[in-house]
Amino acid sequence: MPYTSYEVPPERPWSRILENGQTLRIIDLEGQQAVDALLYSADDPVERYSAQDTLRAQGSAYVGLGTRLISNRGRVMGRITADSCGRHDTSAGCCSCESNAVRFGEQTKYQHACRENFVLELSKYGLGKRDIVSNLNFFMNVPIDPAGNFAVVDGISAPGNHVDITVDMDVIFVVSNCPQINNPCNGFDPTPIRVLVWDPPAV
Ligand SMILES: [Zn+2]
Repeated sequence: MPYTSYEVPPERPWSRILENGQTLRIIDLEGQQAVDALLYSADDPVERYSAQDTLRAQGSAYVGLGTRLISNRGRVMGRITADSCGRHDTSAGCCSCESNAVRFGEQTKYQHACRENFVLELSKYGLGKRDIVSNLNFFMNVPIDPAGNFAVVDGISAPGNHVDITVDMDVIFVVSNCPQINNPCNGFDPTPIRVLVWDPPAV
């Protein structure tokens, strides 16, 4: 099947407009690499991914095969159509300079972060800081214990694991190849990812 391929270096953002029916594959090339993601309707970006609606709609705390990605208007933006990792998060949010300073100390405030990647990438579409909402964290392992506690722990993603998202509307798909080095989400060593995009099969 013909596809377009992009390599996203460590710590960098990437985005593309996906047409309804296209599939995007994210490949964790070296393993244990968190990939933060946001989706916006390409026709009207006020409609965007909603973590809360997604969790409520599927009645489960994790994102995996079959998860429907729901917008703030309750519509299906896309679906997880393949997953060789088995565990993705949409509860723990993205890293930022400010949250790094609070969580890991003032000396980490000047390290690059996902929020800054999102600001940079969203600016290409006329969007800004206030358009950043709670995001998806592909390949990030945030187990929730029976008491409801959760924390970012070592990733279970092996080298070459992938996740496919097939979109059900035209979307602006934005990712941040997470630069975090203060917790285990990237194995303390941010690495490159590969992104593939292909068209739906002809009918
Ligand atoms: Zn991050």
